[in-house]
Amino acid sequence: MRKSIEEKMNIDALDIYGLSEIIGPGVAAECLEKNGLHVFEDHFIPEIIDPATGEVLGPGEKGELVLTSITKEAFPLIRYRTRDVTSLNPEPCACGRTQVRMARISGRTDDMLIIRRVNVFPSQIESVLMGIEEAEPHYQLIVHKEGSLDTLEVQVEVLERFFSDEIKQLETLQRRIKNEIESVLGIGTRVKLVEPRTLARSEGKAKRVIDERPGRGETH
Ligand SMILES: [Zn+2]
Repeated sequence: MRKSIEEKMNIDALDIYGLSEIIGPGVAAECLEKNGLHVFEDHFIPEIIDPATGEVLGPGEKGELVLTSITKEAFPLIRYRTRDVTSLNPEPCACGRTQVRMARISGRTDDMLIIRRVNVFPSQIESVLMGIEEAEPHYQLIVHKEGSLDTLEVQVEVLERFFSDEIKQLETLQRRIKNEIESVLGIGTRVKLVEPRTLARSEGKAKRVIDERPGRGETH
């Protein structure tokens, strides 16, 4: 998306990170190297923790971003859990700034599904679908429990011009998407291709996950 915005508008598009509880946009921003977002450490102390245990993780390790505001008045936050998943890179940056860089947010801890003891982020499936020309990045994940085994079904919308009556072609596409998703997630999945515009569209943040396992019954 960045590349297409930059090409169409003839600009450099830079990623800015923030959250309204802390300051809004302005916690971290990319430099022109576009290789991570410098955290404004003179105002915020970033840490990465394991979301399950709270243990602080080291440089390069992926986990939940925790922020402490140093200069904010009236509404200071101490070790605020953002639920955003990223990692920190303290290596010097080619731009000369010395502030630590955080990686692009790769998901939310509350979006994380645990399927057969494997952590699965919907964003991983989205990034696979972005690379498949025939598919829309519209998808739905359905998690079931069959016996004692969790199953993950991925429903994917196929673009109108690729949705043909040729069963064979669709089967080949379905197998290709399944293989790519499985190589990223490391667990077996079911992929179901659906006709264009059949998955529900929601305004704002999409509800991508239907968890039908007993005791969950939640959607994201
Ligand atoms: Zn830099």
